Amino acid sequence: MATYGTYTGTGTGTGTGTGTGTGTGTGTGTGTGTGTGTGTGIDAGAGPAARTASGFPACVKIVEVGPRDGLQNEQQTIPAEIKIALVDRLTAAGFVNIEAASFVSPKWVPQMATSTEVMARIARRPGVVYSALVPNMKGFEAAAAAGVGEVVIFGAASEAFSQKNINCSIAESIERFRDVAVAAKAHGLRLRGSVSCAFGCPYQGAVAPAAVADVVRRLRELGCDEIDIADTIGVATPALVKTVMPAAIGEFPVERLSGHFHDTYGQALANIYASLEAGITIYHASVAGLGGCPYAKGATGNVATEDVLYLMQGLGIDTGIDLDAVVDAGQFISQFLGRAAVSRAGNALAAKRRNAAAA
Ligand SMILES: [Zn+2]
Repeated sequence: MATYGTYTGTGTGTGTGTGTGTGTGTGTGTGTGTGTGTGTGIDAGAGPAARTASGFPACVKIVEVGPRDGLQNEQQTIPAEIKIALVDRLTAAGFVNIEAASFVSPKWVPQMATSTEVMARIARRPGVVYSALVPNMKGFEAAAAAGVGEVVIFGAASEAFSQKNINCSIAESIERFRDVAVAAKAHGLRLRGSVSCAFGCPYQGAVAPAAVADVVRRLRELGCDEIDIADTIGVATPALVKTVMPAAIGEFPVERLSGHFHDTYGQALANIYASLEAGITIYHASVAGLGGCPYAKGATGNVATEDVLYLMQGLGIDTGIDLDAVVDAGQFISQFLGRAAVSRAGNALAAKRRNAAAA
């Protein structure tokens, strides 16, 4: 039985109790109260997951990808200092999994050149998994030395995308990760696979659900512990989600599949809702909606974490994450970037606070 991590959370409860009163004797009573406690996160392979009254999973895991997928697509250079402060705020907010770094060549992705420094200086919390993207063995060695808990490998579900970006077939591109996969297992690290362009491709357009299933199978065969179904260019709609997710579920345990949605066309929350209905219980999100789309300059990035948390809260789904603390983190990084957060919920909650403070 594998757990994804532990979290602290708040809850309400009712109870009965006895009490002693000073000078007036003893008595019994009932009451309600709030309290804090610790619990385990989503439990893979533990049988049918608990459900909310409306049939949704009772808890989901939110993977914060802002420090990597988000910042990597920002134009401005972000100093290590700011990245560390951001990751520390996210750790404090209660995430059990944060994508914090990428060990790719700084020639390709200058924004991630500070990854070793970031990993060395963040305030780690026990039980939190810090993930990093790793393109090859050189990246793996650097990631392992930096103490990442999970390495992320990737493959596209689009043949055109694979050819255009890395000049080889999908099958070859995934096969190239075999040594990284073996090394990750040997080091006792978690291995996550990401299926990019699972809902559409900037070069070939439509992507068949069977192509997604095929990449999921290849990543499963490499030993991935978790697999992301990623809408890299943010073109998915709920109807598509309802065909692609079942194809992936046919190849891999549903409780270890995740939905990674970009909000390019404003469909990300709707796609997450459709994924919940399909049984997916892990979602990626980026604080303040950090990031962009390398294939549509000026477009928005990942779905904002604040918006996802607001949705989950409204559905009665537990995330173990403190939304207020994430709003703070979102306002912090947006201030540095010199713009408003790309999060409706984040900005609304921040405005509400300012109004309350001014009243
Ligand atoms: Zn992404």
